[in-house]
Amino acid sequence: MMNGSCISYVTPADEALQTLRDAAQAGAVTLASSFSVEDMVLTDLIDRHGLAIGIFTLDTGRLPEETYALMQAARRRYRTPVAVYAPQAAALEPYIAAHGPNGFYDSIDLRQSCCAIRKVEPLKRALAGKQGWVTGLRRQHSPTRRDLPLREWDEGNAMHKFNPLAAWSNEEVWAYVKANDVPYNALHDRGFASIGCAPCTRAITVGEDIRAGRWWWENPDTKECGLHPAQADRKAS
Ligand code: SF4
Repeated sequence: MMNGSCISYVTPADEALQTLRDAAQAGAVTLASSFSVEDMVLTDLIDRHGLAIGIFTLDTGRLPEETYALMQAARRRYRTPVAVYAPQAAALEPYIAAHGPNGFYDSIDLRQSCCAIRKVEPLKRALAGKQGWVTGLRRQHSPTRRDLPLREWDEGNAMHKFNPLAAWSNEEVWAYVKANDVPYNALHDRGFASIGCAPCTRAITVGEDIRAGRWWWENPDTKECGLHPAQADRKAS
């Protein structure tokens, strides 16, 4: 940024911190953490700077053991508690009875239904009464996220949505993790880039897209779990 004869630079961490401070000013705001490496960066920033932003996670019941181990490590490391939301048995039990425990492999509809029960409905409960939420989404993640703004109006949830790491590169995320000794999912050291439920996540190979290991059997232009609307539904706030 040019200012008279002085040139100043805004670092990715500065930009993220400012976006988090803006979020904290927006009322009751919460970070949706999947314990991804991005969410751990945000957790570290929130905790380190004592920001008035809550944190919650969605325990789908199908997470990898490594994610539960990270949850436990985060409890020891950070003061900010993480509220846990689980799927409702009244919705999950009939789904499993009709389609089996792994019915989500059989069609996109069944995959989306499983995500709706295990993620989208608990998300609605987690966001109830909030004025905004914070996510670890980045533009580099997928074609559906390439125009992601730092903040936007989330029409579906009728609240502000903040994406403090929108512009961060993968290298910048990991540089922050290493510099600040942030705990992260052990699966990242085994080739997993983006980590969700165990049966819907695989490791990627060199040159593959970051999210290639998520729902790898689906078209990359359509695979979202329903937590985040398509770019077309977005507008800046
Ligand atoms: S990611 Fe897979 S297991 Fe997890 S909620 Fe979606 S379909 Fe179900």
